[in-house]
Amino acid sequence: MTKVLKFGGTSVGSAANMKRVAEIIRREKARITVLSAMSGTTDALVRIVSAAAENDQNTIDERIGMLTEKYTTCIEGLLNRYKQEALNRMQATFELIRNETSNFREYTSERKIIAQGELLTSAIFTFYLNETGTKAVCLNSPDFMVTDQEEKVDTKRLSEALAPVAADPDTFYVAQGFICTNNKGEIDNLGRGGSDYSAALMGAAIGASEVQIWTDIDGMHNNDPRFVEHTYPIRNMSFDEAAELAYFGAKILHPATIQPCKDKCIPVMLKNTMDPDAPGTTISNCDDNSKSFHAVAAKDGITVIRIHSARMLMAYGFLRKVFEIFEQYRTPIDMITTSEVAVSLTVDSDKHLNGIVAELEKLGTIEIERNNSIVCVVGRMEHGDAGLAARVFESIRKIPIKMISYGASHRSLAILIATEQKKQTLQSLNDGLFQ
Ligand code: ADP
Ligand code: ASP
Ligand code: MG
Repeated sequence: MTKVLKFGGTSVGSAANMKRVAEIIRREKARITVLSAMSGTTDALVRIVSAAAENDQNTIDERIGMLTEKYTTCIEGLLNRYKQEALNRMQATFELIRNETSNFREYTSERKIIAQGELLTSAIFTFYLNETGTKAVCLNSPDFMVTDQEEKVDTKRLSEALAPVAADPDTFYVAQGFICTNNKGEIDNLGRGGSDYSAALMGAAIGASEVQIWTDIDGMHNNDPRFVEHTYPIRNMSFDEAAELAYFGAKILHPATIQPCKDKCIPVMLKNTMDPDAPGTTISNCDDNSKSFHAVAAKDGITVIRIHSARMLMAYGFLRKVFEIFEQYRTPIDMITTSEVAVSLTVDSDKHLNGIVAELEKLGTIEIERNNSIVCVVGRMEHGDAGLAARVFESIRKIPIKMISYGASHRSLAILIATEQKKQTLQSLNDGLFQ
């Protein structure tokens, strides 16, 4: 059994938690342990970056002070023999960050600063393993997580680089999640929450028998526990369902995590570091067909673009022209509904909105609506089943609905609502479909 285990920020957020993690990886005989930065670090580093861009030295000092305190407390609670070495390493990290803020280069400095959380956390944890008699090596993920122009990780290179790791059962390898080298050879990252994805790619690269994502909750719940009361963990889930939930906002998993594991049929377990014996969730090829509704997730920050055009009437090729504009701006569309004279699309990124709208205006009149959420109900909804959509809409009959998507797959029904209605929508669906 070759296992890759990933631990999120809370799981490595203190000396006590790092000790738990060490126990878990020894018990599980993890081949690679992928770590996020200690909780709160990446947010603080992002804040330091924006303060550097604005020449706000007070904020930089304040955040570095906060991080210094956090890491010093952790090192002192964790290490004896390697304490001084770890403290030196920490000082070097904060010196590097200070240097980058005073010679600030947009993008390059930003990426370099943000990478330091994972680098420092993994170094401290490896010191601890070695100090407690566990043979451990800290890998440098940017050496083998290398992205191309399309920001895709070169998986062939990754497999080759990790071949010696795959063949060495006697060492515990520790690696940083989240960070990589981009196609210009600079340090970069896979986007917020990307450590899950790093673990999935490394698991696929070494042909792992399991990828375990360890976090602060006992698996994937049927609804978002941050907003909804009485949610419960789901024991088994298919790759497709998990991918859909992650894509539509289930924060427990980065949306890109599932694909590499699905491609290689590697089960993904979601486990709780604070309660390691809880069963958690197993995501695999097996499907639970017993229920119509499995889970609900919501994704915020959705913008609707509505195109009104008489030219659509009875025309063909109109949608192609619309899609080409989104393709040109490399902006994915999440939801789409059409009528005789209008088409509504949603996007989760406003980055190229002005350019897109300028092009779309050549095709018709454009309306933009911001601050929406997509709520996605995932389950088994066969086209022959009567009454399933009715049950969903009955439970949210008081919520104004802006768009509906049903029937694209047997797995999901998605609706678009104003974000201010999200909490009530999620709770109403929970009460109506799951209790
Ligand atoms: P980590 O730092 O370990 O990566 P995250 O904060 O990214 O952890 O993800 C875990 C959190 O995801 C949980 O604490 C929970 O609040 C949130 N979450 C959102 N939706 C779900 C869901 N459907 N099931 C479980 N947790 C969820
Ligand atoms: N530390 C990074 C973040 O906070 C990556 C991760 O935790 O997955 O986004
Ligand atoms: Mg996460």
